[in-house]
Amino acid sequence: MSNLDPRPAAVSLQAGVVHAVDVLEARKAAIGDGTEVRRLLPQRVLRTIGAWCFLDHYGPDDTSAGPGMRVPPHPHIGLQTASWLFDGAVLHRDSLGTEQLIRPGELNLMTSGRGIAHSEESPAVRPGLLHGVQLWIALPAAYQFTEPDFAHHADLPVIEATGGDGATVTVVAGEHGGERSPATVYSPLVGLQVTLPDGGEVTLPASPGFEYGVLAADGPAGVGCPAIAGAPARIEPGMLAHLPVGVPSITVSASGPSRLFIVGGIPLGDRLVMWWNFVARTNEEIVTARNAWVAGAFGEVRGYIGEPLAAPPLPPGGLKPRLRNNYGQ
Ligand code: MN
Repeated sequence: MSNLDPRPAAVSLQAGVVHAVDVLEARKAAIGDGTEVRRLLPQRVLRTIGAWCFLDHYGPDDTSAGPGMRVPPHPHIGLQTASWLFDGAVLHRDSLGTEQLIRPGELNLMTSGRGIAHSEESPAVRPGLLHGVQLWIALPAAYQFTEPDFAHHADLPVIEATGGDGATVTVVAGEHGGERSPATVYSPLVGLQVTLPDGGEVTLPASPGFEYGVLAADGPAGVGCPAIAGAPARIEPGMLAHLPVGVPSITVSASGPSRLFIVGGIPLGDRLVMWWNFVARTNEEIVTARNAWVAGAFGEVRGYIGEPLAAPPLPPGGLKPRLRNNYGQ
């Protein structure tokens, strides 16, 4: 079929009404020595939300007995890792010589740039429960080979949310409600923890041009937007609600004490190649990074007791850059 009109009218795809909150289900994955995680990003239908390109939600796990979490030294390029805990403690070490314990309410933000290696493990003395999220942020092409860096942020802005009974929003990354996280990021994005100490409902303004993802850390929650008709989407741990560009606000609700984590940003236009722990733009960049890891060129992570992770074999035929979803959008 073809449009036979010699003067077709321009059709605007900039719809004034956003259509739906999509709910994506995590797939189970194992990290390090077998800690099980719920992998919410990337998915075939949605690889990124803003520049957020990886989102694992793990726990709550009882780590009071046994070794707890043990993720041996492994390399990264082209991304920032953001570590955020709801409960427990994790010890980070990296090839810059950093050794940093992270606790709930604190952000560990590692910028891999051209290359860094790190390990993560449960410290010897620790609370019983371990519960958190591990996120990656794709660096823009202009910064993908920047110098590696590590930052620990223990003093993040916490805002009282309007409408909720004691509800608060912690600005983990980016800006919200006039408060800006001290964390350095390289593209327009936001990361927020919403805490509903006694359930209830809060509505957060959205940033123009941002899409959002919402996960429920503790139990069932509702995610909606006044611009979207119908009941709020229902999510629970292991699900990610996606709100498309154009939502004016995000309403989250829960019937009991709940924490939610929200990621948002301007949809990524780049075609990324993501393989193992690398984010790149070309197959050659991935091959170069893998060779560098095999050659020991990422530097040593001192203090971790155990062998570094071995790089898996590359897929035959190479890797192709992918758009953010399978719909060419
Ligand atoms: Mn890592």
